[in-house]
Amino acid sequence: MPHDTPLIATIVAGLGLAFVFGALAQRFRFPPLVGYLLAGVAVGPFTPGFVADQALATELAELGIILLMFGVGLHFSLKDLMSVRAIAVPGAVVQITVATLMGMALSWAMGWSIGGGLVFGLALSVASTVVLLRALQERRLMDTERGRIAVGWLIVEDLAMVLALVLIPAFASLQSGNGDVAAADPLAARFGLGLTGVLLLTFAKIGVFMAVMLLVGRRLIPWVLHYVAHTGSRELFRLAVLAIALGVAFGSTKLFGVSLALGAFFAGMMLGESPLSQRAAQESLPLRDAFAVLFFVSAGMLFDPSSIIREPWPLLATLFIILFGKSLAAFLIVVAFRHPVSTALTISASLAQIGEFSFILAEIGGATNLLPKAGRDLILAGAIISIMLNPLMFAALDWLLPRLERRRADVAAAPAPKPAEIPVTPLTEHTIVVGYGRVGRLVGEALQQRGHAFLAVETSEDILKQLNDAGIETITGNAARSNVLRATNPTAAHALVIAIPEAFEAGQIVEQARAANPALHIVARAHSDAEVEHLKSLGADRVIMGEREIARGMIEELDTRPPDPAPALAPQRAAEGEQVQA
Ligand code: AMP
Repeated sequence: MPHDTPLIATIVAGLGLAFVFGALAQRFRFPPLVGYLLAGVAVGPFTPGFVADQALATELAELGIILLMFGVGLHFSLKDLMSVRAIAVPGAVVQITVATLMGMALSWAMGWSIGGGLVFGLALSVASTVVLLRALQERRLMDTERGRIAVGWLIVEDLAMVLALVLIPAFASLQSGNGDVAAADPLAARFGLGLTGVLLLTFAKIGVFMAVMLLVGRRLIPWVLHYVAHTGSRELFRLAVLAIALGVAFGSTKLFGVSLALGAFFAGMMLGESPLSQRAAQESLPLRDAFAVLFFVSAGMLFDPSSIIREPWPLLATLFIILFGKSLAAFLIVVAFRHPVSTALTISASLAQIGEFSFILAEIGGATNLLPKAGRDLILAGAIISIMLNPLMFAALDWLLPRLERRRADVAAAPAPKPAEIPVTPLTEHTIVVGYGRVGRLVGEALQQRGHAFLAVETSEDILKQLNDAGIETITGNAARSNVLRATNPTAAHALVIAIPEAFEAGQIVEQARAANPALHIVARAHSDAEVEHLKSLGADRVIMGEREIARGMIEELDTRPPDPAPALAPQRAAEGEQVQA
């Protein structure tokens, strides 16, 4: 070998094996994520054969976290964050407290110190960003109310961890009796601050960080992007996005002591404020998924499979706290705040795992001698197993939700002769508008003006609320689900307008509606010729292709001002054209 290339070896081994194991997992109907973790176990130090560089793998994983949180920030607006604070802040705080107390109880039973119990409990209380976002994205929950609450909750946990990471070393030094807080914060040490001082300083830093992001970042970041867009170089534009994401994350960690993930989240949020830059930035995140995979591989590397056999009982208790203790606490809080059971269950499932923050806490706990080695092993094993089981939690949710809904509907409709899952609308000869976004809204307004009876089917809770406020009849849920579609009363309807962008779902709706009512007038929306064909073959009467209509509008616009046919002007126009080109 000419020279040693550990970085390349780690990336190649990580991605290559993740692909092989991920494909195998998929083959056996497990989520690919389980394969990535197993790939990590395979290249980890606890299994024979090739051992990848653990420090490098961890750092690469961190890149994945930065890019992921940047992406989340892009989708998230300040308004979203504020709109969920009423539930996210108390929810996260109470849940962290409950989980930490449970962890402390377990560690007390194992005879550890209070400090050790505190670190252990905190590590069990925080969910992994990557796992949570993956789960929400896969289920397309990011843009729902539930998704926003889950992300807001995550941000609060993240902020709490920033505090914890500063306070643990301070706590450790106080416990060891020398009162030296240098390890916690060099600045605090220089000014001779005690624990309260460190706490205040941390709060101040977070405050300054947020203020800088909101006041400066919000203007500066879009300004830089607009400037780069002027250069006309796409490459430079993408580079600018990447440089901002990584630069802000790294800079805010160094300057303000916030986590890399949190810095990246705010950078993304600042960019997302302008819809134009949001669009552009999304396209330039192809690196994100690759690095997210490396996160799972590096998590897998930490796992020592023999620990399961060595100490089964403490591990079971740890898992119980992560999977059930935390979820139950989250569930009760969300329900207490009068959110629907479906929201509560989604949040519970999202949080029933631990990940990167717990690894960091375990590391700090070890370095400050608070946490015994057994605690570190338990956290690692708990993380791996809970991450593996997380898809199962969501599967359980999918199984449970319809049953709960049905039971509720059954109870509500008990006296009725035929219990319906969702009450069927009394409307007849009406038009059903599926999706009330950019397209559906316009259709709905036109129907309203004409005085036609109609109802809207929507999944977005925000839109549903607006519709309810406006007194428009709605049905909540995915129209592709048979119980939702039945509730729209398609057999008695006059027309069905499918104004959603997703052709597979639209196809499902067309097929079911056509079966229910052969005379129904079905108009659907598509974005390609293949989609038009697909929807027609399933029974749509008319499929409107968005892009074709846009072109038609543009042609019409040109027709309103046809080119001047006078040949005498031609040379002058040519000259103008030349000027413009020059
Ligand atoms: P737009 O692309 O702006 O016209 O928005 C489409 C709208 O359709 C969004 O508001 C979505 O919430 C909604 N939507 C998408 N899929 C479904 C579905 N399967 N059932 C009901 N509403 C949907």
